Amino acid sequence: MTSRILVSACLLGRPVRYNGQAKPVLHAALDRWQREGRLVSVCPELSAGFPVPRPPAEIANGQSGEDVLSDRARVVEATGADVTDLYLQGAWAALSVAQEHRCRFALLADGSPSCGSSFIYDGQFAGRKHEGAGVTAALLRRHGIEVFAESEIEALVRRVEGNAAAE
Ligand code: SF4
Repeated sequence: MTSRILVSACLLGRPVRYNGQAKPVLHAALDRWQREGRLVSVCPELSAGFPVPRPPAEIANGQSGEDVLSDRARVVEATGADVTDLYLQGAWAALSVAQEHRCRFALLADGSPSCGSSFIYDGQFAGRKHEGAGVTAALLRRHGIEVFAESEIEALVRRVEGNAAAE
């Protein structure tokens, strides 16, 4: 079976980020997969009902999406509002879409408290990054989906094409 790839909607050019912008990634493989009907677009935060724009949010106290899934950490907006439950809701919605479309891989926007997969911000809203994943990326990984950041797209291409060659 041809692998499908779950992709953050903002990486596909949809202006759905907290600041109303997109974060488009241009790559020949993405164009090809799009033509082949293999890309599945998702925005966990929109799925949870957040508007565009919305206040920025970070995982508090330098913790990670794994900690949120284990009920050891909270997601807070810059306003101080606790939005943990909505971030969890968005993550489960994204997992459901991924499973429905049998996505084995995901390409997610790094740095986001939902989609980040190699780094996120530390909860102080001071632009400080640390290693770790957002809530959606952590949940997808718990369910066996291989998650890549946009900076790792070449590795994703090798993985997907290598996978296709093995099938
Ligand atoms: Fe992009 Fe993910 Fe944020 Fe949606 S939740 S805007 S897909 S990074």
